[in-house]
Amino acid sequence: KGPDPDLVSIVERMATVKHKILVLSGKGGVGKSTFSAQLAFALAAMDFQVGLLDIDICGPSIPKMLGLEGHEIHQSNLGWSPVYVESNLGVMSIGFMLPHPDDAVIWRGPRKNGLIKQFLKDVYWGELDFLVVDAPPGTSDEHISIVQCLEATGIDGSIIVTTPQQVSLIDVRKEVSFCKKVGVKVLGVVENMSGLCQPITDFKFMKMTGTGEQRDVTMWALDYLREKAPEMLELIACSEVFDSSGGGAAKMCNETGVPFLGQVPLDPQLCKAAEEGRSCFADKSCGVSAPALKKIVEKL
Ligand code: ADP
Repeated sequence: KGPDPDLVSIVERMATVKHKILVLSGKGGVGKSTFSAQLAFALAAMDFQVGLLDIDICGPSIPKMLGLEGHEIHQSNLGWSPVYVESNLGVMSIGFMLPHPDDAVIWRGPRKNGLIKQFLKDVYWGELDFLVVDAPPGTSDEHISIVQCLEATGIDGSIIVTTPQQVSLIDVRKEVSFCKKVGVKVLGVVENMSGLCQPITDFKFMKMTGTGEQRDVTMWALDYLREKAPEMLELIACSEVFDSSGGGAAKMCNETGVPFLGQVPLDPQLCKAAEEGRSCFADKSCGVSAPALKKIVEKL
């Protein structure tokens, strides 16, 4: 029996891709796609040629997070063409193939694996410095499939995104163990949503009245500060939203021997950028999360 012709085609396709990075998470909703999208934006802003492949077949959020909703994939004689945000940032997702964004994709394993193979062998990326793969949460068919398909061409490693709570960290340990079993290096863990951080001027200040109602006193509070302590208006207020008394991702990394890449705070401006499909690095609006994300990208 000769070599699998699909794998041969994948190896040929991937020959023009220098680095392949998987973005993983144990749970959904921890910010994996947000991180993948912003990582792609950051690498593209550094003038790398970047591809972003979304294999979260049941919940593809990458088209929206890159401002590409409603776009379709075109076929050329070289293969499927990614949808381009900029000339050096191409995106491929099943989201581009669904006639209606609300359509549910209810597929069993083999069909999902088939699509992943097709993405890898039929998409014409051209020369890429980085291919960032946004995987679904957990360790399921799609993960085994992508690793098997890319094994022969080499994967640089995985980045695991988590929140600080134990419930998420327990699943990260599973993700680390999966990577070890299948021989994928863990480049590191990102702790996302590590506290809510906002410029003090973005807060709403409330006062409890005697009858238990809340009164908005923002104007008064900010005017007071402006007059009495203007330097306080430059402060960024942070509060821990999730319980990290267990030491968070840093401690877990220490215990499992994988690198800790850093923390990204919960930043309403980052959420807005993601909703609007914008890079958080493009303007100064994501003042608290963009520097944190940039530091992480520079560590890779
Ligand atoms: P996942 O891919 O892990 O399911 P998403 O990336 O879709 O998670 O994130 C879930 C939601 O949380 C999205 O609305 C996203 O914009 C928001 N989000 C993620 N990270 C942050 C953050 N650091 N600050 C604010 N909102 C965030």
